[in-house]
Formats: sequence, structure tokens, C-alpha cells
Amino acid sequence: MPACTCCTVTFPRRTAPGHSRRGLIAAMAGLAAVAGGIAPARAASGLPPTTLNPDQALERLMQGNRRFLAQAAQPGPGNLERRAILATGQAPFAAVLGCADSRAAPEVLFQAGLGDIFVARNAGNLADTGAIGSLEYAVANLGVPLVMVLGHEHCGAAGAALALAQQPLALPAHLRDMLLPMLPAALAALRSGGDAVEGTVRANVAMNVNRLLVESPVLAAAAAAGRLKVVGGYYDLDTQQVSPIA
Ligand SMILES: [Zn+2]
Repeated sequence: MPACTCCTVTFPRRTAPGHSRRGLIAAMAGLAAVAGGIAPARAASGLPPTTLNPDQALERLMQGNRRFLAQAAQPGPGNLERRAILATGQAPFAAVLGCADSRAAPEVLFQAGLGDIFVARNAGNLADTGAIGSLEYAVANLGVPLVMVLGHEHCGAAGAALALAQQPLALPAHLRDMLLPMLPAALAALRSGGDAVEGTVRANVAMNVNRLLVESPVLAAAAAAGRLKVVGGYYDLDTQQVSPIA
């Protein structure tokens, strides 16, 4: 059992039965590319990276905003009247701690409009300081009654945490520090067998639901008073269905 050089966690050497080997290899290749300072040539799915240069990417973003402006006069939940009201404040009905993955945007998955849901995102949907503080604001200042920690299928952060759990990797400091809180979930998934990436995602969601309630007195008090529920969810990329995680 090799030990990581940057923390006290001891890692298993072998892949568990049923482990998603392709996902792990892709994650490790991506991490190696990051560590080597080069861009990954290809995502795990086979989609090539964008061919836009930085200026073209910025122009595409701005074009999107111009379309958004043009749509304001159309009837619907995001119309001019609603946008004018939202300029004066917000009252979202739920908050989501989601992964930064481009395929798992909560507003899209839940068909939510402007002002509907308060979203905190990072790679791995982790209850870090920024996420906890953001959710405390949503609950204490905006009166949000529900927080969902939302993981998703084929999560790259979960795959990377699994790769790190398999063997020590030389990673940029921030990337390494970001992944370390996911190691307990990765190790739990490796112990339990089955699809290790999905197992890591599910364990990580459950651990972060618990972390929110343990580490935040604000959220814990709201939950104890019956004003807040903190739940876990799993988004399946194949079926596009979100299902609860107990
Ligand atoms: Zn993810």
C-alpha cells in the first residue's frame, strides 16, 4: 500500500473489480497533461477541444448575451418584466451545490429561469469555504428552504480523485488540494466495488451533504428548525434524469 507524498492517506495499489478502467485512464491522462503543463488533446468522450482562440471565445460569449438581450421582449418567465423585478432583488426557491462540469448546469437540468435557483459550483461539487459561505448567504439572507448537492455521471473530478487514490501523482498545488477532500469518497468506492467513478460520485455527494450540516452552524440551525432540507442528487448524463441520493 503506497502512501501519498502530500498527505497521510494510504492508497490501495490495485483497481477494484468492476472499476471503470477507461474513465480512470482518461482521468490520469488528463491529470498528467495538466501536470506537464500541456492541454489535454481530447476529452474522454472523444469530443475534440474547441478550436476557438481566446478572442473568438469571448466574441461567442458576447454574441450569446446579445441574443439574450434580444429575447427580453418575448413573452415567458425570462421576459423584460421579470428581469426588471430581478434587478431589484432575488428570492430563489432552492440552492444547488453542483459540479463545474459543462454538461451539468443546474439551471438547464431543472428548467429554471433567472432568479429561480441559487447555484454554487466547483469541480466535484465540494463543500469548500466558498460554497459553504455562498449557501449560508442563500439560506440566512434569501430564505432558501432547500439545498441540493448534485453530483453527476462520468464526473472528471471523481475520476481524477480515483486516479490520485491509485497512485501518487505530481499535480499543480491547487488541483491537488481541490481533489484531496474527495479521496475518502474514492477510497470508499474502491472498497465497495462496482463502478468506481459512480461510487465515488455518490459517496462524495453524501459526504458533502453531511459536511454542509456539520461544518455550517447556519445551515445546521436552519435544518434543526425545520426551515431547511439538505439533500443529495445524481444526474445521469445518459437519461438526463436527476435522482435522489440517500
Ligand atoms: Zn463533475
